[in-house]
Amino acid sequence: MATSDLYYSHSGKFKAHAPIVLLFGVGLCSILLGAAYGIGNYYCPSVWISLFLPFGVGLAVGGMVYLVAKWTHIRNMTMVIVSGLVFGLLLEYTAFVAWVFAISEWEFIIYKPQDLRGLLAFLAVDGVWEIFGYVFKGAMLYVAWAVELVIILGCAAILPWVLLSPKAYCESCKRWITDHKSVLPFEVIKDPVAFKAQLERGEFAILGSLAGVPYSAPEYTSYDLSHCPSCNNLHLLSIETVSTTLDAEGKTSTTNTDVIRNLLIDAESMELIKELDPGDIPEPVEAPVDDPVAQGDPADDTA
Ligand SMILES: [Zn+2]
Repeated sequence: MATSDLYYSHSGKFKAHAPIVLLFGVGLCSILLGAAYGIGNYYCPSVWISLFLPFGVGLAVGGMVYLVAKWTHIRNMTMVIVSGLVFGLLLEYTAFVAWVFAISEWEFIIYKPQDLRGLLAFLAVDGVWEIFGYVFKGAMLYVAWAVELVIILGCAAILPWVLLSPKAYCESCKRWITDHKSVLPFEVIKDPVAFKAQLERGEFAILGSLAGVPYSAPEYTSYDLSHCPSCNNLHLLSIETVSTTLDAEGKTSTTNTDVIRNLLIDAESMELIKELDPGDIPEPVEAPVDDPVAQGDPADDTA
């Protein structure tokens, strides 16, 4: 059996109305958001806000593509990524039209590509932005516009892909798998590659070889089980390493790293893995410190 057959993978299918909802729903919202973004850039009072705006609108388009893809059961990641790129581009184009409309004091709506390109080339000669005294014009302005476009397209395409690709879908029951159970925390896997290879050979006994650790452990392994409760035919195992770090300001951040994602297992193996639950492991007891000052001198007590 090929390794790819051992894992869940998206079928590439989608509901018939998915492209229509994408086109009219996300398309219309991208045009409205693009117009607001273009006019917002014209009025934006802060350079710092204007630097973050492309990330905001790109993520907004990506979020809309994700919600529609989930709602219309799109299991085709190429369609999701292309949608993000197309609607990101539509937003950027509308933003330029709206921005030109704003800088022309609401006189000209230039929407034809060749006219818009000519006008932008004209504006680029003397520059249109100034950041910390530096006027962006000529080649530097084109570079800035290109960076803005890459940020918007990147956010719009990557966000829905990141959110949707780890999800699983039961083709028999026509539903996303939302039932998850985590069995944790176990010690960190020392050799993830060998561990993964053993699981792919069906040697599930290795899962029982990891010792449980306390919940406060800064780094641990988590077994995540998901299944389709409707047909009870689709069972999946994912394994993650979860690392918690504390920064200088006392803020904690958690990073999840996949060891395996959506390995197909049977119902019996799933029940056996659930039984591996390490339970509440007590914190390690620190060795008592032998400090005569802290403990007091017994001789003083007798005096
Ligand atoms: Zn099912």
